[in-house]
Amino acid sequence: MELNNSVKKCNTLASSYGIKENWSNFKAFENLSTPANEMKHISSRLIHGNPDKQPLNSYRGLKTPVYEAASFDFESAEELERAFRGEIEAFTYSRVSNPTVAELEVRLRDFSGAQQCLCVSSGMAAISNALITLCSAGDNLITSRYLFGNTWSLFGKTLSAFNIEARFANLEDTASLEKLIDKKTRAIFLELPTNPQLVIFNLKAIAAIAREKQVPLIVDNTVLTPYLFNCKNQGVDIEVFSNTKFISGGATSVGGSILVHDSEKWQHIPKLQQDHDTWGKEAFYKRLQKEVYRNLGACLSPNNAYLQLLGLETITLRIDKTCDNALKTALFLKNHAKVKKVGCPAMPGDKYHQLAVEMTGGKTGSLLNFELESKEACYRFMNQLKMIRRGTNFCDNKSMIIHPASTIYCDFTNEEKQLMQVGDGLIRLSTGLEAIEDILGDISEALDKT
Ligand SMILES: *Cc1c(COP(=O)(O)O)cnc(C)c1O
Repeated sequence: MELNNSVKKCNTLASSYGIKENWSNFKAFENLSTPANEMKHISSRLIHGNPDKQPLNSYRGLKTPVYEAASFDFESAEELERAFRGEIEAFTYSRVSNPTVAELEVRLRDFSGAQQCLCVSSGMAAISNALITLCSAGDNLITSRYLFGNTWSLFGKTLSAFNIEARFANLEDTASLEKLIDKKTRAIFLELPTNPQLVIFNLKAIAAIAREKQVPLIVDNTVLTPYLFNCKNQGVDIEVFSNTKFISGGATSVGGSILVHDSEKWQHIPKLQQDHDTWGKEAFYKRLQKEVYRNLGACLSPNNAYLQLLGLETITLRIDKTCDNALKTALFLKNHAKVKKVGCPAMPGDKYHQLAVEMTGGKTGSLLNFELESKEACYRFMNQLKMIRRGTNFCDNKSMIIHPASTIYCDFTNEEKQLMQVGDGLIRLSTGLEAIEDILGDISEALDKT
């Protein structure tokens, strides 16, 4: 009797969530895929999402609930079958889709203007899932030598073991890029700007070649995010980024995103030709979402999706502040006698400033680099810092500093490091959100003692 009563209580509680009412027509899921459109500015929409269209949030809590559930219940066996066949949109299993992750995907799609968005467990998972969807053994991709360390290793070691070849071009010289493209080229991949070199490629020129040769263009937009550089209508077919950096806001969690932009190229990819017959422009996304992503299993945890939704609420504010701090810090370093060279595309006079102005309006995020006399000088300087943290992340709320040659690139040969322009005197700094007086004060005192 007592047991029956508590079961009844649970049932009442469950129905108060409104889940059963929504169950048969799955309006919830349908509504999730509608971005908010009443607010003109992305900064507002990233805070609110679409408040009228979040029926999954039945208590009207002002934060998206965290659905930490692997599996979901169905009213009948028939309904379960229809869900598996894709005849109704429903959450079946969180490796495939999850309500909290889906809400993050809606907001990021709105952020970037992409056609589809798929969130995954890390930035590396975003890159590997995208490339595995495009490439088969014997295929190649073209990229630059200026790459995030693990991306370099993914291309050079992991993918090459499956006979997918990365060809390294000087992407500042588009003729050299064109020469490397052949019938087996499935992607051109680049970062904007590159890290830690802070090179900005002429995307317009590269996109024109990619269009002419019908090769998908993939941009890793981690450093700028869609706030500073919008890939839509720029000839970018696939945008990837690490949610770990600016999106999460303060390095709370690891995650990644794949954003698929409007593209005519899928029919030229042998692996996607059949999918193109079935799904047209959605061919890449469907193959990714229905096969590769599920099989590789690098799904984003609902809790991380929640933290990244929180991050999106303040992202534009944080990026504005960090851009301001980065530029002021670069100008300070440029005028310091002990600093040999400063890289910051936002700074007038920087080699890439003109391109930065054309592409982003001149704001280039939190990263800057500078050169001291030697590795020893870099270490003396870094060890004197009191507030700025020695660590590997960037686009964090905290200012962070690292000596790339001896850390991120420690497994690379001297020759490789030279090719990547990662010298012994190079320091990478990511300015955080602290008061500029504290950032400059810390740097100034440390340089005095260097
Ligand atoms: C951090 C980073 C990645 C990898 O992201 P994770 O979330 O750490 O896997 C990829 N590309 C760039 C440019 C990055 O900065």
